[in-house]
Amino acid sequence: MQKEKKAKIRPKKKLDQHFLVSSYVGRKFSQLLYKKKKLVEIGVGTGFLTKYILRCRSVESLVAIEIDDDLITEFWLQYTYDSRISPLLSDALNSPLRLECFDAVYGSIPYSITGPLLSLLVKNFRKPVVLLIQREVAQRLAASPGSNEYGRLTVLVRLVYNVNLHNIVPPTAFRPPPKVYSQIVELIPRDNTLNNLVIERVESLTRCMFSERRKLAYKIARKCLEKIGVKTSTLPAEIFGKRVYELDEKVFLKLSLMGSDK
Ligand code: SAH
Repeated sequence: MQKEKKAKIRPKKKLDQHFLVSSYVGRKFSQLLYKKKKLVEIGVGTGFLTKYILRCRSVESLVAIEIDDDLITEFWLQYTYDSRISPLLSDALNSPLRLECFDAVYGSIPYSITGPLLSLLVKNFRKPVVLLIQREVAQRLAASPGSNEYGRLTVLVRLVYNVNLHNIVPPTAFRPPPKVYSQIVELIPRDNTLNNLVIERVESLTRCMFSERRKLAYKIARKCLEKIGVKTSTLPAEIFGKRVYELDEKVFLKLSLMGSDK
């Protein structure tokens, strides 16, 4: 009898390929995405997480995005029988997909795209998200103002999401194991009507201000706002006596709205 030949997937370092092998991570994702109907998975790899998600009866359609054509072919061979799945060979940061048509985005994503992907989701999605990301970054998203972990990404994400941290996942949950621990993070949409121009202003203001995170906030705010042509004769009272990293997201929002008619 001829032995079935299984294609050998060689993980590509430059694409941050670490494949999950832990069933509890799979079960946790399906629990967190319970009842979602239209899903997008980012970086499906060999489809480990997909298998758990498809067990949810609620799933009506799932777009599986992957940048590596060897992997997406392998993935598609496994799942071609399932009419709910559409594979998409694309860079998740530059895909033609209209995210607003979906209920949730999830994935065990390459660490290297975490920041830009979160920025994209904050601007173009704002619905539920479940991601497995580097533990330090997960903890930054949930950090309080005034802590060492608090930063620009925290402010940006918290403008539109509440952040729930779930399981910490050790390197042994992946093949090959990454050098760092990971953590499951759930982003739950907050009620808001911010438009993208405002979010972009917060993004550029925080980029400027957090480059001097330990300095007095009113001085740095004045400097950064003047750089973008905003007159700063009156600044919000709550920034006086505080350092940049002690301001919460509402204050950054107030500062970003100065000089704009939004
Ligand atoms: N989710 C899979 C694979 C995780 S590894 C699992 O848990 O087993 C990260 C995956 O993201 C890899 O398959 C890698 O090829 C893919 N990837 C890397 N950069 C990407 C990008 N910019 N857009 C989409 N996928 C990407």
